[in-house]
Amino acid sequence: MPAVGEPGPTGRPWPALPEPRVIGIHGNARIIAMCNQKGGVGKTTTTINLGASLAELGRKVLLVDFDPQGSLSVGLGMNPHDMELSVYNLLMQRDVTVDDVIVETDVPGMDLLPSNIDLSAAEVQLVQEVAREQTLSRVLQDAVNTYDVILIDCQPSLGLLTVNALTAADGVIVPLECEYFALRGVALLKNTIDKVKERLNPRLNIDGVLGTMYDGRTLHSREVMERLVQAWGDDVFHTVIKRTVKFSDSTVAGEPITSFADASPGATAYRTLAREVMARCLDV
Ligand code: ADP
Ligand code: MG
Repeated sequence: MPAVGEPGPTGRPWPALPEPRVIGIHGNARIIAMCNQKGGVGKTTTTINLGASLAELGRKVLLVDFDPQGSLSVGLGMNPHDMELSVYNLLMQRDVTVDDVIVETDVPGMDLLPSNIDLSAAEVQLVQEVAREQTLSRVLQDAVNTYDVILIDCQPSLGLLTVNALTAADGVIVPLECEYFALRGVALLKNTIDKVKERLNPRLNIDGVLGTMYDGRTLHSREVMERLVQAWGDDVFHTVIKRTVKFSDSTVAGEPITSFADASPGATAYRTLAREVMARCLDV
C-alpha cells in the first residue's frame, strides 16, 4: 500500500482508510451485486476474497452463488452434484427458506447459498412468475437481519437472473479487467444499471469499479486504468488487483486466497479492498 497522499496505482493520491470498527450486533445487511456481463473478469474471485476479508474484519458475510456455472460454490470446495438444496429451490419453491439452503464455509463468519446448473432452469421458469424481477429480493429478506453484508456473484449476462440481483441489491461492484477490450460493453452495463434503478430499484448505487488482472509493468495496463478513471471518476476503487496465478491455484484448492496464500500480495489487495468497501458503503 502506498503512503497516504502518495500516488496510488490508479494515479490518484492514496486515501486514508479508517480502522474498521468492532461490532457486537449483526444485521441490516448491505446487499452488493458483483456484476459484469463479461466472463473471466474476476467477479467470482472478488466475491470469495472480498467476502473472506470482510469476515476477517468481524463482519457476518453471506455469499450468494447466482451463476448456474456454480464457480463460487466449487471455489469454496463444494461438489455441484452433491447439493441437496440450492438457490434454485429457494427461488422456485415457496416452502424452502434461506436457512434450509445456507451452508457454512471453512471461513469463520462466512456462509454460502450454493448453486449448480439447476439455476439455469430458474431463468426460464421465472419468466412466467408474477414480480419475476423481485424474486431474489423477496427470498433474501430473511437473511438481511442476520448478516452485515450479502455479496451476490452474478452470471456473465444481463439476463433475468442479473436483473434479479440488481433489484435485490443496495449497491453494485463492477470488476473490470485492465485490458483494452474490457471497456467494450461497459456502456451497456451502465445502461442496464440505470434502467433497473429507474424502474425497479431506486436505491441501487454503484459502490465501486474494481480494476482486476492489473499489470503495472505494462504501459497497456496503466493506460486502461487511466481510461477507467476518466470514465468512472471516483467510483473507481483505489485498490487494484494484480494479475497472479495464485488466484487460479486457490480456486483449485477450493479456498480464498486469504487462507490459501495468507501473506501473498493478492490476499493483501483484497484485504485492502475490504477496508475501502467498509469506508465507502458499510458503516465503519
Ligand atoms: P468471472 O467470475 O468474472 O467469470 P473469475 O473470478 O472466475 O471471473 O476469474 C476468471 C479466471 O481468472 C479464474 O480462473 C480466476 O482464478 C482467474 N483470476 C481471477 N482474478 C485474477 C487475477 N487478479 N489474476 C490472475 N488470475 C485471476
Ligand atoms: Mg464467475
